[in-house]
Amino acid sequence: MSANFGRYEILRRLGIEQLPALVAAEEPVDEVSDGPFPNIPLTTMPVPGRRCPACALKGQTVWVIPGKRCPQCGTPVR
Ligand SMILES: [Zn+2]
Repeated sequence: MSANFGRYEILRRLGIEQLPALVAAEEPVDEVSDGPFPNIPLTTMPVPGRRCPACALKGQTVWVIPGKRCPQCGTPVR
């Protein structure tokens, strides 16, 4: 607790707000250390993509490259 308090004190003196993203980055990633990309959380896609809105309405998560069509339903995704 004292370590976190010390870090917060430093940020506060510098006038920097402690953002939630910064707190998440401080989380240990020991459980995924044996993966090919140990520094990337499993929920992050390594390639840029967007969820198909039509498939999302059906409860499916289909990742489409922006500018391409959804491979499941053919909906253009930008
Ligand atoms: Zn789709």
